[in-house]
Amino acid sequence: CGIVGYIGHREAYPIVIKGLQRLEYRGYDSAGIALYDGTDIKLSKTKGKVSDLKERLENEISTHGTLGIGHTRWATHGVPNDVNSHPHYSNSGDLVIIHNGIIENYDALKKELIKRGYTFKSDTDTEVLVNLIEDVKKNENIKLGKAVQIALNQVIGAYAIAVFDKNKPNEIVVAKLGSPLAIGIGEDEFFIASDASPFIEFTKNAVYLEDEQMAIIRRGKDIKVRKIKGDSLVDPYVQELQL
Ligand code: GLU
Repeated sequence: CGIVGYIGHREAYPIVIKGLQRLEYRGYDSAGIALYDGTDIKLSKTKGKVSDLKERLENEISTHGTLGIGHTRWATHGVPNDVNSHPHYSNSGDLVIIHNGIIENYDALKKELIKRGYTFKSDTDTEVLVNLIEDVKKNENIKLGKAVQIALNQVIGAYAIAVFDKNKPNEIVVAKLGSPLAIGIGEDEFFIASDASPFIEFTKNAVYLEDEQMAIIRRGKDIKVRKIKGDSLVDPYVQELQL
């Protein structure tokens, strides 16, 4: 399983699809990509190989956009099929998430969300997390980063996640506990991946998130790294990758 993402000035799709191919060695049963095309989210996902996704996606959606996230899934909750593949939307359709790992208390969280009127298309723990983030964001009327932080404090489990909001398409929020997550720092562009292989050709500078850290990645600006628990900002250690 793996995650890839891009936010910057280039077309995201070629970077994300190639990145997913480089992460194939990690093992997976399904793959999917969400792109922001300047107006809306375009999403395509499928059970099967990244090559199957490539064929399907290029027939299904326009591949344009400078923000994209991609995922290869190793199913833990819900069988491998198209619906359970990532990315997953929140109920409003505003948020979209990719996730590697397991949300262990997803069942209790899901019951609570159903009481609040949320519905679920998939059997995944991940769709519970994206709706929990949406619920927190709406109830507290806060920014995505803060909502992700509060939601993750209610979660037991392991994760590498990337999430964005189509109403704020200059920002990707990522977080890590247990599963790996690296951020590649380019010139006015950022890359996200489970390891550096998807972005090594574009930049040698990377930040490896530590467990219980999250980052807000802002197009053309900077990354803000903070601890998920508590309120402290972390000064990110930018590592120079060796070839
Ligand atoms: N638990 C999630 C699912 O089953 C993510 C699995 C993964 O790590 O790919 O969809």
